Amino acid sequence: MAKLATNRMASATDTDFRNIMKVIFKIKPTDTDFIANSTEIQQRFYQIQILTETNDHKASDIRFYCDEDQFFDPKSPKVNEGARWQRLSDRMWDKENMIVGSLTTFGCSYTDENGDRKGGATYTTKDTRDKTQNPNRITITMCKYALDGGVAPLPSEPRKFPVVYQTELSTRNWAIGYSIQNFAVFLPATIVHELIHAVSYGYVLDVPVGNCYGWKNVRKASKEDAMRNADSHAMLAVWALVANWGWTLIRPNPPARYSSSEKKDYMKCLDERVKSGQMRKYSNPPITSRNLRSLGKLEKDGRTDVSKRVREFLEGDEKLLDSLMFSTLSETGGYEYTTSY
Ligand SMILES: [Zn+2]
Repeated sequence: MAKLATNRMASATDTDFRNIMKVIFKIKPTDTDFIANSTEIQQRFYQIQILTETNDHKASDIRFYCDEDQFFDPKSPKVNEGARWQRLSDRMWDKENMIVGSLTTFGCSYTDENGDRKGGATYTTKDTRDKTQNPNRITITMCKYALDGGVAPLPSEPRKFPVVYQTELSTRNWAIGYSIQNFAVFLPATIVHELIHAVSYGYVLDVPVGNCYGWKNVRKASKEDAMRNADSHAMLAVWALVANWGWTLIRPNPPARYSSSEKKDYMKCLDERVKSGQMRKYSNPPITSRNLRSLGKLEKDGRTDVSKRVREFLEGDEKLLDSLMFSTLSETGGYEYTTSY
């Protein structure tokens, strides 16, 4: 997804994606600072792309955990307080893996000051007690909450949206019954969100506090907040992914034949859809059926070379995500970073 986002951002002809950049980051090509701002965002995605895998856990710059140790059971607090976890006054501490946990929640699932459950956490502890470990390690914990896709639905309600990437997603009709908001529970989006914190060394945070997650908040954020908000970046990456499936954000463009009052109504109606993040078929060159025909020969199964290339991209990206379990950053020097989630 990071790679798809850098590629989409680099295209000057992809006006649908440029529109999404405008809606999320409030930047457009005619701005004097467009290049500076878009490069800054692109560089963050690029930093994610160039992460490399290592099995050297102690030296790694970023470590991913999917830690379901229930070290604190409210019913019997002592039960899971084993040798690995040490209870400090305000938190649980796993010295061996340099993981910090909350006293009041299971495993690594956090509840923030507003009572919102968080699917993941990114932090650095600057711990120097264990000399064999990288003291500047950035830890990313993924919680049961994230792996389950947020709040589990009732058994009678089948889950509408899968949490992990599946090939069938690329063939769904996203115009009906969905909006970009559904991707809030999409695990790859959570991973991108946390990695953006990590590769920016905490420069990109969760702002404005209390209104930083999900499409509706991302859309409303000021330019200043958007540039420093992890979910704004994650939503852009999600749009890059759905763009490769042929979908983009509704774009108000009233037909010329409409009267001015009709145009106004049209804009109002479409604006509501933009607010809720509705998708429609892409109007840009690589995606329309006319251009698909001109770009690639239709094969027997109705697929084109373009769609094959799209699949290759996605599969490549999936492997990238798989490889992030133990990752290392190529550059680590020169930044100060304090704890942030
Ligand atoms: Zn965050």
